[in-house]
Amino acid sequence: MRTTPSDLAELDRQVTECRACPRLVAWREEVGRVKRAAFADQTYWARPVPGFGPPDAALAIVGLAPAAHGANRTGRMFTGDRSGDVLYAALHAVGLASQPTAVHRDDGLTLFGTRITAPVRCAPPANKPTPVERDTCRPWLTQELALLRPTLRAIVVLGAFGWQSLLPALSATAWRIPRPTPRFAHATHVELAATDTGPTLHLLGCYHVSQQNTFTGKLTPAMLEAVLRQAKAVAGL
Ligand code: SF4
Repeated sequence: MRTTPSDLAELDRQVTECRACPRLVAWREEVGRVKRAAFADQTYWARPVPGFGPPDAALAIVGLAPAAHGANRTGRMFTGDRSGDVLYAALHAVGLASQPTAVHRDDGLTLFGTRITAPVRCAPPANKPTPVERDTCRPWLTQELALLRPTLRAIVVLGAFGWQSLLPALSATAWRIPRPTPRFAHATHVELAATDTGPTLHLLGCYHVSQQNTFTGKLTPAMLEAVLRQAKAVAGL
């Protein structure tokens, strides 16, 4: 039986061993066996992807799930795909990342006060986890938020799926979700009161950095950097 992790390093280790969702376990491993031709000489990670960033982060970025040939290949959030190219370039532009590119797990990239995570840790077919898979994975996110609680001041949520997945985890951790429930929108900003004695949490919405959004201009680098700058400021970074 799994023990409750005492720190983020232990949580990250435990999550990489999870096999709770049969469909996602089969898919992530099949993708890792079949591979994309361009990566045929590489060994895919093909496991759940842990959060990336320091354990005392003041800012979190919550996406959707690992990409089949991105994080599911490299083992690090948003690393090795076009979505990550956009995200890390923006993080570097606003001073939250040490370099603008994320190619593989050992490329030297460091995040400053920022941790990137996701409500679903295994690559799903067509980037669409089922509601059951989302709910099955939520305890990992809730535990991560609880461990980040002492320092966490702001979260940027990339897309409506992440937003809807995150709210119950926030509620289960230390923050009150107002009624009516805040809806996802790009550049929306909500401040959540704490249910413990700690500080409030700033929640900011941002369109997802998917190619569907960035190739069409729905999300431009300037729009993304504006949200990240605002999040950095309210997080005190
Ligand atoms: Fe485990 Fe989450 Fe992956 Fe499901 S999606 S197998 S709960 S890590």
